[in-house]
Amino acid sequence: ATPTALLVGTGRGAQMGVLIKGPEVLESTRRVDTVVLDKTGTVTSGKMTLVDAVTEPGTGRADLLRLAGALEDASEHPIAQAIAKGATEETGALAVPEDFANLEGKGVQGVVDGHAIVVGRESLLAEWSMTLSPGTAAAKAKAEAEAKGKTVVAVGWDGQARGILIVADTVKPTSAEAVAQFKAIGLTPILLTGDNDAVARQIAAEVGIEEVIAEVLPQDKVDVVRRLQAEGKVVAMIGDGVNDAPALAQADLGLAMGAGADVAIEASDITLVRGDLRSAVDAVRLSRKTLGTIK
Ligand code: ADP
Ligand code: MG
Repeated sequence: ATPTALLVGTGRGAQMGVLIKGPEVLESTRRVDTVVLDKTGTVTSGKMTLVDAVTEPGTGRADLLRLAGALEDASEHPIAQAIAKGATEETGALAVPEDFANLEGKGVQGVVDGHAIVVGRESLLAEWSMTLSPGTAAAKAKAEAEAKGKTVVAVGWDGQARGILIVADTVKPTSAEAVAQFKAIGLTPILLTGDNDAVARQIAAEVGIEEVIAEVLPQDKVDVVRRLQAEGKVVAMIGDGVNDAPALAQADLGLAMGAGADVAIEASDITLVRGDLRSAVDAVRLSRKTLGTIK
C-alpha cells in the first residue's frame, strides 16, 4: 500500500463525512467481519421523551412525576432529562433533591421532600426490596410498553414501589438501511445495550438485527468486545456515549457518532460526522477499494 494511495483514501473519506484518524486505520477497517452497535444514540436518535406515567395503587400521578422528576433533574442521562422535562410540563417547577447519587447504567437514588427515592431499572429497586405488584395497571402498561420497544423506568420511595415512567426513543430513519447494507457487504450486526432485553429485541427487529446482547452494564461492554475477539471475530464497535469509550478503544475498529461524547470520539479510529450509520458502510467499502487497488 503506497502512502499516497492511503492518503487519497482518507481524504475521500473526509468528503463523505467519514473522519479517519490515520491511513493505517484503513487496514483494520478492511478486515472487520462483525459490527457491534450501541442502541441509544447510535441506532436510535437518543432523543427521549416521557410518554406515560402509571402509578401503583395508592400513589398519585402528580406525586410520582414530581418526586421522580426532581431526582432525575440532577442527572445528565437522556432518560433522566426526558423525565425531568415531562414532569415539569405537567406539575410545574421541580424541587431540588436533598441528596443525590448517580448509579451508572442502573438509575439514580436520593432524597426529595424527605422521601428516600430510587428511579431506574427494576433490578435497582429490587436491591432495596421494592417490587412492582403483579397484575396492576402499571404491570400491564410495562409489558405493553416493552413489547413496543419503549424503555420502562421504575420508581419507588420509602420502601415501596410507586409506579413506572415510560420513555420512548425513535429509531433513526437511516438505521434499517444501514443494517441491510452491513449484511450485504458480509458483516454480522449485533445490538449491544444496557437496556432491557425485550426493548432491545424490539428495536433490533425494527432495523433487521438478529443478534442482541442486552442488560450489559457500562463497564461490561468492553468484555463483550473481548469475548467476540476471543472467538476470532474482527470487531467494529459503533457508539456515542461516555460508557462506550472503553469498548470503542478495545475493538479492532472503533467508530464514534459525530454528535457523541468527546471521550467516545477520542477512543475511536473513525468519526461518523453525520451520525448516519450508512457512513460506516461507506468506510468499509472505501477501505476495501483503497487497499484493493494498491496491492
Ligand atoms: P445504553 O446502553 O442503552 O446507552 P445505559 O447503560 O446508559 O443505556 O443505561 C442502561 C439502563 O439503565 C437504561 O435503559 C435505564 O433502564 C437505566 N438507567 C440508567 N440511568 C438512568 C436514569 N438516570 N434514570 C432512569 N433509568 C436509568
Ligand atoms: Mg449510547
